[in-house]
Amino acid sequence: MLSIAPQLHTLDDAQDAGRTVDYWAAEGVTSFKAYMGIKPDELKVAVEHAHAKGLKMTGHLCAVGFREAAALGIDNLEHGIVVDTEFLPTKKPGVCPAKDAAEDFAKNVDIESAAVQDMIRDLVSHHVAVTSTLAVFEITVPNRPAMRKMLRARDALSPQGWSTYLRVRSGIAEDNSTLSAISLKKEMQFERDFVKAGGLLMAGCDPTSFGGVLPGFGDQRGLELLVEAGFSPLEAIHIATQNGAIYLGESDQIGSIAAGKAADLVVIAGNPAQNIDDVENVQLVFKDGVGFDPVKLTQSVQGLVGLR
Ligand SMILES: [Zn+2]
Repeated sequence: MLSIAPQLHTLDDAQDAGRTVDYWAAEGVTSFKAYMGIKPDELKVAVEHAHAKGLKMTGHLCAVGFREAAALGIDNLEHGIVVDTEFLPTKKPGVCPAKDAAEDFAKNVDIESAAVQDMIRDLVSHHVAVTSTLAVFEITVPNRPAMRKMLRARDALSPQGWSTYLRVRSGIAEDNSTLSAISLKKEMQFERDFVKAGGLLMAGCDPTSFGGVLPGFGDQRGLELLVEAGFSPLEAIHIATQNGAIYLGESDQIGSIAAGKAADLVVIAGNPAQNIDDVENVQLVFKDGVGFDPVKLTQSVQGLVGLR
């Protein structure tokens, strides 16, 4: 099978899944992400081999649904219910549904339905975490994010990267479909319900696609979108910081500010606990206790994103 990313190794079978995990663990890899085509028997063995070494398995799944993955022992599910295929009418066991899956999700999946709420409870009882990536979903919605948000990231993009972004964005704006907006709303509702049920939600920006989500800028945007989803600013900040540290088992070192912990933090002008947009006003960045000027950091990557 061809992979959408040529650097991804496509597994032959369950034995290959175990072998692949063992090989990379021996090379020093500390966590694994299973991708869309992985089949139930392959995921099962991959999880067993990772867990045997005390390592975790996350997944951006498609052929395996969320409940099935939870039963197989996965630790975290990337992106949220938008990529959970188990409720789609075209889903067949062990197969990733065809390309209309995104449309099927927007049209068919009801977050308030008993089936989805059961799935949420199931994830929580299996201690499966979820990673929110709202920023990358947002860029498929017409005229989002607001252009003034994107202008902040423009200088980091190469000229070609910026023109690609504008071209794709205007194509999305001309396409009148509301499906992507519906999907974003449903994803937000799912994340709220998952946390309400006791689930561990983390956040990442997923800087993929056509240049609309950049590392750092995308993480800040993710925080703003969590607040739009209904979380308080403080809850959103915890999701994006402390919860990731808890998942990694490193919350005694990172994820919150306390004496004795690693000084990885940003100093902000304003109060994001009240107004989440203030996260964009970074004055100083500390990494391992060393302070950096954010203007110089941004200048150091000027024009680099999108170069081949
Ligand atoms: Zn992914």
